[in-house]
Amino acid sequence: MKVLKFGGTSVGTVASLTNVKEIIDALDEPAIVVVSALGGLTDRLIATAKSSAEGKEDYVEEMNVISSRHYDIIDALIPNSRREGIRAEISALLKELGDIFKGLSLIRSLPERTLDLVVSFGERMSSIIVAGILNDAQHHNSLNFMRTERWFNKDIADRQLTDSLIKKEFPLPLTRHCVMGGFISRDRDTNEITNLGRGGSDYSAALVAAALEADELEIWTDVDGFLTTDPRIVKNVKLIPSMTFVESMELCSYGAKVIYPPTIYPVFHKNIPIRILNTFNPSAPGTYICDANNGIPCVRGVSSLGNNALITISGSLATNVAEINTRAYNALSRNGIGVLLVGQPEHGTDFSIVVPSSDLEKGVRLFQSEFSQELREEEVASIEGKPDMTIIAIVGEGIKKISGLGPRLVNTLWRNGIEVKSVSDGASETTIAIVVKKDDAAKALALIHESAIERS
Ligand code: ADP
Ligand code: ASP
Ligand code: MG
Repeated sequence: MKVLKFGGTSVGTVASLTNVKEIIDALDEPAIVVVSALGGLTDRLIATAKSSAEGKEDYVEEMNVISSRHYDIIDALIPNSRREGIRAEISALLKELGDIFKGLSLIRSLPERTLDLVVSFGERMSSIIVAGILNDAQHHNSLNFMRTERWFNKDIADRQLTDSLIKKEFPLPLTRHCVMGGFISRDRDTNEITNLGRGGSDYSAALVAAALEADELEIWTDVDGFLTTDPRIVKNVKLIPSMTFVESMELCSYGAKVIYPPTIYPVFHKNIPIRILNTFNPSAPGTYICDANNGIPCVRGVSSLGNNALITISGSLATNVAEINTRAYNALSRNGIGVLLVGQPEHGTDFSIVVPSSDLEKGVRLFQSEFSQELREEEVASIEGKPDMTIIAIVGEGIKKISGLGPRLVNTLWRNGIEVKSVSDGASETTIAIVVKKDDAAKALALIHESAIERS
């Protein structure tokens, strides 16, 4: 049994949904189909919620646009026998959504949970419509079985509970296609509507694939597969025909948008291969992600992750790499801050660590408290935070065995006038990470891609 996930671009228009239908019709056994909201809708729902909460009334016009988009698809693609029923279901959801916008414009505030409620309408509507387009499909309401828990002000999947609910929801073997919305969930304690984070439909699909031990997870999107870098930033990208789970995990956690980062782990754990395929070019082979590795070191791809900050600790303590590493890492992770990279003490006695920009102030404060004694005793001279940093990650199994690669890439950047702020300390066998200023990021990515991939 396969799990197929179709992203927003794949379910955005009558034309793309026609492709989706053809792809599913061609399957030789029932599958689980996970869909995102119609392309671009989540962004618009967020923007409309915000403007309603400012007391504006543009939601009225926006609701007309949103309604027409959904009704046009229903009218074009859903057979007569089912059309009225589905129109009625969508119309009830649209009415509720319009009422919520109206309420927001009156109360002029936007509580976090209300925004979660607003964005949930995207996947709730698209999944009903896609189920209606298919000939023999059952709609499953994800709000009944995807569960999150609260962790440091974030909603994260409750894997155990969700696993058992998924198994109950989809008894195997499947007798017909099952369609569900990605992204959306409920809090396990309060039952409020939550979600798995922007881009989270990939993760929903992975959780279902892992719980049901599917044969394969297919991510259908709008490019031919996993590319050597972001095609929106660099021109001469190449398709990666196959890669390992670890390579894809590294590339995605450092910003390759093609898969939402948490997606890989649940399927990797169960050794379920992932295929990235193009809804607009379904016969292309795509990218196959599995456990196999031919053992030949190579650079598989390059990605970049912006919106980060660099915290640098200088002073003699920074030369005690083991101690400062452990204490810095623990101080942050105990407080829910994810460390994205630990930098090599390149400049004499500096130690640097990269955290998301939003955690910069908190991170500096935590370090000031963790190292208060050393600050007093001048073993730590300063703790300094700098925003607007981008991590460029060069990824490939065995990459560390490619002699001189890291220094060569760093030199390429310096030669082209790009200041290298930090380089990863080599903890990962598959990734070399280089930190540059946000303003240098696009140029640095292109230079590194050219040097590590185009010329190799
Ligand atoms: P979906 O709506 O299908 O979830 P996304 O927009 O989330 O699609 O992801 C697909 C997009 O990711 C592509 O259109 C491409 O622009 C972007 N992308 C960024 N980096 C890569 C990469 N390394 N390989 C492929 N696509 C990438
Ligand atoms: N619709 C959601 C978003 O735009 C989830 C997804 O597309 O995966 O973030
Ligand atoms: Mg996506």
